[in-house]
Amino acid sequence: MKLNEMTISELSEMLRKRRCSATEILSDVKDRINETEGKIGAYISINDKAENSARKVDEAFAKGEELHPLAGIPVAVKDNISTRGLRTTCASKMLYNYIPPYNATVIDRLEKNSSVIIGKTNMDEFAMGSSTENSFFHITRNPHNTDYVSGGSSGGSSAAVAADEAIAALGSDTGGSVRQPASFCGTVGLKPTYGRVSRYGLIAFASSLEQIGTITKSVKDSAILLGAIAGYDRMDSTSSRISFPDYASNLNASVKGLRVGIAEEYFSDTVDDEVKNAVYSAIKELEANAAETVSISLAAKEFSISSYYIIASAEASSNLARYDGVKYGYRSKDYDGLTDMYEKTRSEGFGDEVKRRIMLGTFVLSSGYYEDYYRKAKLMQRKITAEFSDAFRKCDVIATPTTPTTAFRIGENTEDILKMYGSDVCTVAANIAGIPAISVPCGKNAMGLPIGLQLMGDRFAEQTLLNAAYGYERICGGFREVK
Ligand code: GLN
Repeated sequence: MKLNEMTISELSEMLRKRRCSATEILSDVKDRINETEGKIGAYISINDKAENSARKVDEAFAKGEELHPLAGIPVAVKDNISTRGLRTTCASKMLYNYIPPYNATVIDRLEKNSSVIIGKTNMDEFAMGSSTENSFFHITRNPHNTDYVSGGSSGGSSAAVAADEAIAALGSDTGGSVRQPASFCGTVGLKPTYGRVSRYGLIAFASSLEQIGTITKSVKDSAILLGAIAGYDRMDSTSSRISFPDYASNLNASVKGLRVGIAEEYFSDTVDDEVKNAVYSAIKELEANAAETVSISLAAKEFSISSYYIIASAEASSNLARYDGVKYGYRSKDYDGLTDMYEKTRSEGFGDEVKRRIMLGTFVLSSGYYEDYYRKAKLMQRKITAEFSDAFRKCDVIATPTTPTTAFRIGENTEDILKMYGSDVCTVAANIAGIPAISVPCGKNAMGLPIGLQLMGDRFAEQTLLNAAYGYERICGGFREVK
């Protein structure tokens, strides 16, 4: 097996035993990128300082220094996470030449642990989308079948990991953007509890919903990566001071007595039979290993998509007001006065989906419509959150499909926006309630496209969630087999 095909935990052990060097790992990853990137399109930029970082890690190992398990591991980073000196575009014309003067906190933490930032991954513009077809640069194709989408908005991160063009990746999840592409590409995608990971330096889309999450090849890798980026940050007032365990060393694969909540609402007619069957059989396997299933009700799911698109667009319209052609990013070449400059810059700099969200957000916040839309969506948010709190009195995790279908064909949903939005129907509620959720591979459809099992947990119960996912991974013999 080539080094780029391995996991963080395998490679960190090999590095410690001197069976390989960080430079060799990076070189295998780079070879793979050169070989396959033309077909996949996972990256927007490659970090030309990666070799330097890898060399430093090798020197530190040679001196006998104790290093974190992430040391020397090539990690890909979604292009809405600020990297000092490395172009960060949000896949938008608006920021196509923006070079951040500072790092996001998660990047500082990765660098402190000596991981190697391999490059910046493609995404839907400003993280708005479910297919990575909304990028200003190019689309990202699904490594399992390049006629299909990789999912979105963190499609580049998930495709990079699935195609072995990175060992692990960071994405961001506002309504499912880590879990949905993980499900489509057969990777493990974790969205932490709101406040678990600092958002400082994450370019804002919908600040009250989003978290930076991990995309990996195994649950253990997800635990390692989350452990490295989690924790209070004084630069993000919404980050939590609640302490957290060492997720990776506390992993426990036993699912004995684990109470798995099943909500019928998540298995409705809109879910493909193949998806339903794969998720049901994953649940059966958990049961066969002494987990208990508990029936719960999540009736407010019906309102989750509409609430999400109202709240997310409202926040987007406010967050994106800063792109005015003055402070940074794109400015129209040709204008007549200030207002004209604003108008032309924004008309030329933003793509169609971003404009749609800004218009929708402005509309739902405008006087006369605020009460009818925004306020109602916020009321539904309370109801959805209350239902989850109730459910977690009866169960430890909730099992659902991650997405109602497997990956769709490129172009299939671009004209039908509601169908596109519908692909988030199982993921958005976790963002609305601020709870953690993970997607793990649980099979494939007849076409060979991956299917994802979503597990949701109570607030700050990442360890329980990771343990359940780890248990399932053990039961199915590892995700390499599912792949
Ligand atoms: N697909 C959803 C949207 O378009 C979620 C995006 C995300 O999580 N960033 O808004």
